[in-house]
Amino acid sequence: MTRVATPGGDVRVAFVGAGPGEADLITLRGAQRLRGADVVLFDSLADPALRQLAPRARWIDVGKRGFSGVPHAPRDGGRDNTGQDTINALLVKHALSGARVVRLKGGDPSIFGRLEEELDALAAAGIECEVVPGVTAAIAAAAATQRPLTRRGSGRSVSLTTAMTRTGELRASRSADTEVFYMAGKQLAALSRRLIEAGWPTDTPVSVVSRAGWPDQLQSDHNVATLPRASLLHAGRPTIVTVGAGARTLSPVKRHAIDASETRGETLKA
Ligand code: SAH
Repeated sequence: MTRVATPGGDVRVAFVGAGPGEADLITLRGAQRLRGADVVLFDSLADPALRQLAPRARWIDVGKRGFSGVPHAPRDGGRDNTGQDTINALLVKHALSGARVVRLKGGDPSIFGRLEEELDALAAAGIECEVVPGVTAAIAAAAATQRPLTRRGSGRSVSLTTAMTRTGELRASRSADTEVFYMAGKQLAALSRRLIEAGWPTDTPVSVVSRAGWPDQLQSDHNVATLPRASLLHAGRPTIVTVGAGARTLSPVKRHAIDASETRGETLKA
């Protein structure tokens, strides 16, 4: 592959993971790339406080697809890249104009972030780029609840899954000890049914966390059968559903802080 050399030999476009919530969850490297940016293409999930890291850059909002940053279902007969072509074109245009471009993505760019299309578009135009990792929502949810996704002896594997397929059909499987679902918040009842069909025992623990990494993050505990009850609490918020070993609470002492509100079936962590 031929790549265009840029002045100073550095890259023109940096894909930066903004992290899942508040601005200080970005990496130091991500912050440094923002400081050097002329143009920032960002999604709606990004904390507006990140703008302070690049006050002179031109900030362009390309997150027109709702809070998830990803379409929940195809809107035009199976072709689900509505808007993606525009983003690709903007990336290429600004990079070729000589600007230093940051493509800021919620969480980690490599997880359900449409990164492949954008990398392909830049490669096709011969533009050098780099990817700076970020904290993905599954990890933020584990941190919020202090529940490790891996457990010695019982949690040896973790799967990050989108419950949504291209056709809008919801799918779930039992492929790992801990199964973490993205983009399932609107369909928790269907997810519960699919998990049971996939062979998860109905009493398997399920932890639901919305807006992980933000001051108003919410967490609730369920099992596979009672998961639909989480719908109201987390409605309209980006939500992570963790099923299996990584959803189990730790010792009662560790749970002390959240027990008080569990009688209401919810936990507000501020
Ligand atoms: N690249 C992102 C994921 C984008 S897909 C990442 O690495 O986190 C969008 C989905 O991510 C949402 O539908 C939701 O399931 C999840 N998500 C993103 N931010 C979240 C947050 N702060 N709390 C809970 N879930 C979140």
